Amino acid sequence: MTSVAHRWAGQGVAPGAAVAGSWRADRPVPAGAVHIGPAEVEEAFAAVAADLDRVADRVRAQGREAAADIVAVGALIAADPDLVDSAKQAAGGDQPLPAVREAVESYATVLDLLPDDALRQRAADVRQVGRRVLERLAYPGGGRDAPADRFVLVAAELGPADLIEHLGGGLVGAVAVRGGANSHAAIVARSVGLPLVMGVDPEVLDLPDATDLLVDADAGAVVAEPSPAEVARTEVASAREVERRGRLAAERGLPHVTADDQPFGLYANVSSDVEVRLALDSGAIGSGLVRTELQFMEADRWPSEADHRRVLAPLLAEAAGRPVTVRLLDFANDKIPPFLTPPAGLPVLLANPSAVTAQVRAIVDLGRDVGLRIMVPMVSSPDQLAPVRAAVEAAAVSFGVPAPPVGAMVETIAAVREIEALCQVVDFVSIGSNDLTSEVLDLNRVDPRARTELAAHPRVLSLIGRVVEAAVAAGLPPLTVCGDAGSHPTTLPLLLGAGVRSVSVAVARIDETRWRLRRLDTEQCRALFTHALRLGGAGEVAELVDERIEVTMP
Ligand code: PEP
Ligand code: MG
Repeated sequence: MTSVAHRWAGQGVAPGAAVAGSWRADRPVPAGAVHIGPAEVEEAFAAVAADLDRVADRVRAQGREAAADIVAVGALIAADPDLVDSAKQAAGGDQPLPAVREAVESYATVLDLLPDDALRQRAADVRQVGRRVLERLAYPGGGRDAPADRFVLVAAELGPADLIEHLGGGLVGAVAVRGGANSHAAIVARSVGLPLVMGVDPEVLDLPDATDLLVDADAGAVVAEPSPAEVARTEVASAREVERRGRLAAERGLPHVTADDQPFGLYANVSSDVEVRLALDSGAIGSGLVRTELQFMEADRWPSEADHRRVLAPLLAEAAGRPVTVRLLDFANDKIPPFLTPPAGLPVLLANPSAVTAQVRAIVDLGRDVGLRIMVPMVSSPDQLAPVRAAVEAAAVSFGVPAPPVGAMVETIAAVREIEALCQVVDFVSIGSNDLTSEVLDLNRVDPRARTELAAHPRVLSLIGRVVEAAVAAGLPPLTVCGDAGSHPTTLPLLLGAGVRSVSVAVARIDETRWRLRRLDTEQCRALFTHALRLGGAGEVAELVDERIEVTMP
């Protein structure tokens, strides 16, 4: 029998490709003919909590601490008395299953409507718990077929536990109708190397289980019943990728030193507690950049101290004992919430001292248990540091804690021009290569031509070199590069050559960056950097790097 492939477009939120039979995680449960009451509902919630606890223990035993903690959150939700009580009450009527579903849904909707992203993410967790409860109620004997040995998970919405539960248990890829790159499921998928496509047409939910399904996150496509040629191509590529990631991860415990024994710092860029957990699991020392503005992209006013506390509390608790550099709100370029008018940026933040105070107080108070540093984004003049330092000192006095170091992100040409003066008024600097490159090359941050490797342009490199020298001359601690150039194969050796010894990278890039750094020689990189400064453009520098630097990748 020949079949016609069915193809849907979506957003690839975790790279890679895989092909296997589909398995729907949230198959609708039959509505009628089930005789259940409040006691069964209570039992079902308790059983789901116990299931999730078991999954968490199993995943913990595999050494996946972060993943285990995420699943354990689901167990806590399943034991939440408010949720269980409202579901029990709903089960009293003559249509118990739809009523329980509705009770769970209204609980999730309340979370959905909350203004901050972290709490909204919990709505997906609640729905996920509700789904498991309903399945238990509908199939008391465990009626649904388990997924096959290898399968692609399909759902309207995926929570992180949906993925984690099946890690190492045949899950090779996932597809969801709703959700985006910032969802917890996407973060987990990127970190464990599971291809995930979101935003796919709901038609995909109608596929019967075990339909051959190809997930190509790199192309942003999902194909039902793909051709044998497509299947063969994808299988080869995905087996290679799984092996590659395994080899990269195997170096997690090894010393952070270059090939010529120079120590390096490897930190993670994070914006949520989940990313902190995954980063620490991947062997990052801590965070070199906490992006605080991402949680407030839909805000209709400056976040209050309470807003900041809600977002930061779980993140900083997760990072206890680790160095963490928290950046003040960076509402600039493509990150401007509706209540501000472009170009916004640091001047607008500083013009609202109460907004600075609110954030600084939350950071200083909640950051007691981490190696805290506070970083000011998009600095263009040394004068901009004084009001922030005053706010930090006032907060430290008010909470009776030592004032944390205050530093500047160097990511504007103006900051580089005044770098010597800037180094006199800060405790540390960190280079934002993303913005610096865009400004030097006059590209908008969202311009598709603004690629990470353009930081290899000699004009950008010479500014970076100048900042490194100034920081050393001023006796500041080793600076970190927290832009994406810190993990790109072309720019990483150049940064090392400029004297950079510490990078903060996306969670999914930690293992690969460690692998590369451990194989680079700083002397060779220094010669490379010196030569690169004499070239005419980023393309020429990239060729030079290709010629001179060979890092064998798994
Ligand atoms: C940068 O500009 O390099 C940076 C890290 O900041 P963001 O990407 O958050 O603007
Ligand atoms: Mg920036």
